[in-house]
Formats: sequence, C-alpha cells, structure tokens
Amino acid sequence: MQESRTADVVIVGAGLMGCSTAHALAKRKVGRVLTLERDVIGSGATGKSSGVLRCHYGHPVLAYMAWKSLETFRFSHEVLGDDVGYRPIGYMVGVGPDNLAALDANLRMLQEVGIDTRFLNPEEARRLWPQMEMGDFTGFAYEPLGGHADPALTVQAYARLAREAGAEIVQSCPVNRILLSPDGSRIEGVESTVFGRVYAPVVVVAAGVWTPFLTETMGFRVPIRAQREQLLLIDPGTPLGSVPVYSDLVNLQYGRPEGSGHILVGNSDHSQPEFVHPDDYGRGVDDGYVEKAANKFMTRFPTLSQARLVTGYAGAYEVTPDYNPVIGSSPVEGLYLCAGFSGHGFKLSPVVGEMMASCILEGHSGDPKIDLSLFRLSRFEEGELLTSLHPYQGAGQLR
Ligand SMILES: Cc1cc2nc3c(=O)[nH]c(=O)nc-3n(C[C@H](O)[C@H](O)[C@H](O)COP(=O)(O)OP(=O)(O)OC[C@H]3O[C@@H](n4cnc5c(N)ncnc54)[C@H](O)[C@@H]3O)c2cc1C
Repeated sequence: MQESRTADVVIVGAGLMGCSTAHALAKRKVGRVLTLERDVIGSGATGKSSGVLRCHYGHPVLAYMAWKSLETFRFSHEVLGDDVGYRPIGYMVGVGPDNLAALDANLRMLQEVGIDTRFLNPEEARRLWPQMEMGDFTGFAYEPLGGHADPALTVQAYARLAREAGAEIVQSCPVNRILLSPDGSRIEGVESTVFGRVYAPVVVVAAGVWTPFLTETMGFRVPIRAQREQLLLIDPGTPLGSVPVYSDLVNLQYGRPEGSGHILVGNSDHSQPEFVHPDDYGRGVDDGYVEKAANKFMTRFPTLSQARLVTGYAGAYEVTPDYNPVIGSSPVEGLYLCAGFSGHGFKLSPVVGEMMASCILEGHSGDPKIDLSLFRLSRFEEGELLTSLHPYQGAGQLR
C-alpha cells in the first residue's frame, strides 16, 4: 500500500459514464482527475451493452440527449479521434393499433426536438425488412441515422482521451468506502485498496449497478437494482441483406443485425423483472426463456425456417424505479452521482460526461435544453418520476 494521495476529483468506476466524465473534466483543466476502477475499463454493463443507438424516447429531454450524443458516434473520427464502430443501418420501432396514437404523439414530439425520424406504414416498413411478418403492425417510426456502435471501442476512446488530457485511470483498484467529514455533511475522499485514503473535495460515483453499495452507509438511498436480461444470438439461416435494428412493440422483442449476418435478439417485456445481485446471477440463458424468445422470433420471421440459436448470455441492467438515471449532486456536499442508466446509457454517454463536468463546475447541465433537475435523486422520494409523456402500453418505462 502506498502513501495516501490527494486529487481534485475522484471518479469511482471506469465504465462509459466514468470515462466520459473523466474526459470532460480533464479537458477543462480542473486539476487532478483520478478514476478508480475495481476491475478493468468497461467491465461492467458497458462491456455487455448491445450498442443500439436510437432517439426514440418518450421524453423530449432524453430524446434530445440521444440526438446530441449521436453526433459523437457519427463523427467519432473527428470528436474521439477513433472509429467506434458506428453503423447507420437505421432503427425502426413498430406498434399495433393500441399504440398507434402514442407512436404518432411521440413522432410529433421527436420531430419538434429536431430528430430525423418519420412514420412508415407496414408496406413501407416491409421494404426495409422483407423477412418481417407485418400483419399485426399498424405503424412504425423510422430513424435512418439509428443503428449501432461498439461500446467497448467507445469506452476505450474516452479513456484514452481522458488520459491524454491529463486524467489518471487506475484499474484493479476497488473503492471500499467513501470518506465523509466528521459531521457527515461533506465529502473528504475515498478509501481504496491500492492507494488507501485518497483525499478529494469532489467524488463522482459512476459505479453503475454497484452504486448503492457505496452510498448505503451515507444516510440516503440510491434506488438502483440489477435487472437480469437475457440475449440470444440467432443465425437466420439465410443472408438478410442490409436490414435495420428493429423494436417490436407487439411481441416486445428487439433485434440488432450483426456484421456477421447473425441477429442479436433482446427482450422488451419488463412486466416481470428478474432482480438479482449484480455479482451473483446466471450469466447463461434459461431454457424457458429461450423457448419463449424463439417462439416470438419465429412468429415475427416465419420464413426464416432454417434459423438456429448460436449462443446466449445474460447481463444486468442498472435500473431505477422510473428506468432513468440519476445525474447530479447528492445530499452530501461534494458527492455527485452518475448512475442508473437502466439499460439505455450507451446512446447517452457522450452528452452525460459533459453534463457531469458542467454540473460540478457550474451547477447546471451546460446546455439550456437539458434541465438537470429532471435527473435529481430526490425525485424518487418526491414521487415526481421522470416518465414518458406518451408511453406505449405493454412496453413499460424502459423507453
Ligand atoms: C445486456 C445489456 C445491453 C445493453 N444494451 C444497450 C443498448 O443497446 N443501448 C444503450 O444505449 N445502452 C445499453 N445498455 C446500457 C448501457 O450499457 C449502460 O447504461 C452503460 O454501459 C452504463 O455505464 P456506466 O458507466 O454507468 O456503468 P458500468 O459500465 O457498469 O460501469 C460502472 C463501473 O464501476 C465499477 N465499479 C463498481 N463498483 C466499484 C468500486 N467500489 N470501486 C471501483 N470501481 C467500481 C465497475 O467495475 C464498472 O466498471 C445495455 C446494458 C446491458 C447490461
């Protein structure tokens, strides 16, 4: 163990949010920025992310954050100095008659935000996804710039940029405890395995699903739970051509076509969430789940009779009660929270780092179109949840 250290800002966790924040702070020359990661960069939810990019949210601020972040993915060579695997294959979300009014309302809202998205009828959608059974769909929203990018490349790009701007990222260095002033009102730093005590006036907890373990002794609750999600990689058995990412809000399933020709298929039915311990849950897929998901898939793609399961795995979403993150200050002076992205944080991560830096340095989001108070921790106790303005029946709040 080394002597205790000091820093101007300590960030706990080197996932997308920790690294994006480290970069945003370091480039503003705030002094010593030290990020401590218990495992390796991107080893949490970031490393399991499907990497889907879309702006189809039910709240204009979240949609705007995704739209603004999309610029970073689109122009990653200029902005991040690296290719982060952005593939603009398009994104489409389809609904049945019960959700058509919500789809229309969302489309109007998203177009007002300035997002490039439009309505498609099932006939038009079939031209994009010829193998898809369209009978029970009434309409679609389509985003030509949606698609996917690579979360592992993105987090590494942010880590590299943060280091180039002077930040330090230390891996295999768990933070065991957050240090408070004797009266508990102010942050003093953290206690870590590698450095012992690190004194700092500002600590950002970007520890994803593990955040509550760090904050539980601090007199306030951060309601983040681990929700297990299973994903299947399916070989369609025949070349699909160039098809977009799809979200099927009739069967509550989504699919991301892979460069390999396979389809990564995920679940959008969150009516019976499986809450787990983030370090102790089944990483494989359950037979019952595979059967149900495969049936849904074959109902949607009945002509893909040669389709077969290649593999499957499970990850954990870091969910809050309204399926939206906590971004901003906490009841303890100097302690900031940036966690609980509830399975949709990748697409927001470029903007979130900038928001955190502005929040710490200036007390606001840095963008007049983003009201930081929407993401405050106290909204859960106040009962003022951040929810969709035009929610889809059956799809819950996860979008
Ligand atoms: C299966 C799956 C699919 C997803 N698909 C998508 C998608 O298609 N599109 C999308 O936008 N989003 C998606 N997401 C969500 C997205 O990946 C996450 O919201 C995002 O990665 C969260 O980043 P984070 O930095 O907050 O958390 P994490 O990546 O979990 O990072 C937290 C880090 O903190 C570290 N840590 C924890 N405790 C400590 C400690 N005590 N000391 C030091 N370090 C600590 C962890 O090791 C970890 O590296 C998906 C998530 C999952 C699980």
